[in-house]
Amino acid sequence: MTRPRLTERILAARVQRTIQGRVRQRRTVTRRDGVRCEVDGRWLTNFAGNDYLGLSQHFGVVDALQASASRDGVGSGASHLVSGHHANHDALEKELADWIGAPRALLFGSGYLANLAVLQSLLGEDDVCVQDRLNHASLIDAARLAGCKLRRYPHADPEGALRQLRTVPDGAAMIVTDGVFSMDGDVAPLRELSLVARVQHALMYVDDAHGVGVVGPDGRGCVAEAGLEAAGLLQLATLGKALGGYGAVVLGSEEIIGHLAETARPYIYTTALPPSQAAATLAAVKLARRDHWRREKLQGLIAHFRQTAMFRDLPLLPSTGPIQPLMCGDEKRATALATALEAQGFWVPAIRPPTVPDGKARLRITLSSLHTQAEVDALIDALCWARDAVEMGFGAAGAAVA
Ligand SMILES: *Cc1c(COP(=O)(O)O)cnc(C)c1O
Repeated sequence: MTRPRLTERILAARVQRTIQGRVRQRRTVTRRDGVRCEVDGRWLTNFAGNDYLGLSQHFGVVDALQASASRDGVGSGASHLVSGHHANHDALEKELADWIGAPRALLFGSGYLANLAVLQSLLGEDDVCVQDRLNHASLIDAARLAGCKLRRYPHADPEGALRQLRTVPDGAAMIVTDGVFSMDGDVAPLRELSLVARVQHALMYVDDAHGVGVVGPDGRGCVAEAGLEAAGLLQLATLGKALGGYGAVVLGSEEIIGHLAETARPYIYTTALPPSQAAATLAAVKLARRDHWRREKLQGLIAHFRQTAMFRDLPLLPSTGPIQPLMCGDEKRATALATALEAQGFWVPAIRPPTVPDGKARLRITLSSLHTQAEVDALIDALCWARDAVEMGFGAAGAAVA
């Protein structure tokens, strides 16, 4: 018998990860109060989340969740096409479509599921999906599930996308890109990509997980910011980032959204979101639309962070949003910096391969409208201290953080 034993393979893989310093450990939050988190008995200032507008603990959002849970219960009880589709889902879909400016919206259990659903229900083996090299992992997995041809183009390169589309001239085609890139924080060249999509008869799909709520007029996201017609493309917004909840929504034309609702397996064969979660997110969307001060305050903090960091020679990427990566190169250095920051009371994750390319390890610093300028200043002081300490070989022996 030459069949490998899975348990032995798992053990070997674990040893390999240990040798490479790529062991991944989760941390347990025991209490959270805004950007302050209690982790392993210590309070840290959180620069590691995606709660950009501070809505995840907002009084009005929590209140909406509690009121709906008392009325409607905890679970939805079934999938959407059986008996789980609730009036709260309808109300949230309508509000999201109205806000983003798309003809129709469809809720999903998560952004990961939504991406699987979109590609799996639209593309087959003769078709092609061209994707930015830095797209989110769920989009790569989605193309694999669809069984289509997957072609990746260099980051933010519309001509690269065009070249890749030309290699498969006969199949139906999609251009798929993150709106705001999740690990770099920059925005995709959507106008140019939409031009390529038009001449190539390709459908464009923008995964705007990190754009909606933050970017564009009234926080309507990257597509609105680029001035593109939302009916002519598909977009994804996640409800777990700037909107502070859980789940996701796909927005597009009546025809495409209707097709997804009837055929996408990751929509059909899964339990609908809890109605109370939909009620909470409805309250969060209303706040995100109305409270311009949250975006303005966030932008002020971002500008202050960038200016101060550059003045102190901290190597930032050219991002204008709340994701502000600090490049470290070597992954051991990224881990050592994260450990040194934690020792000073700051939670910043070290992002390492395979999440980012080899040699591009980084600290993924994220800002929220809940931060204060004093907290941002304190983070920068801590970063400079950590950089100098690691440079001199102190504190490099820390444990893995991300
Ligand atoms: C977070 C994220 C997702 C996944 O969304 P979830 O709701 O967390 O499953 C998809 N795409 C991008 C770009 C993301 O950042």
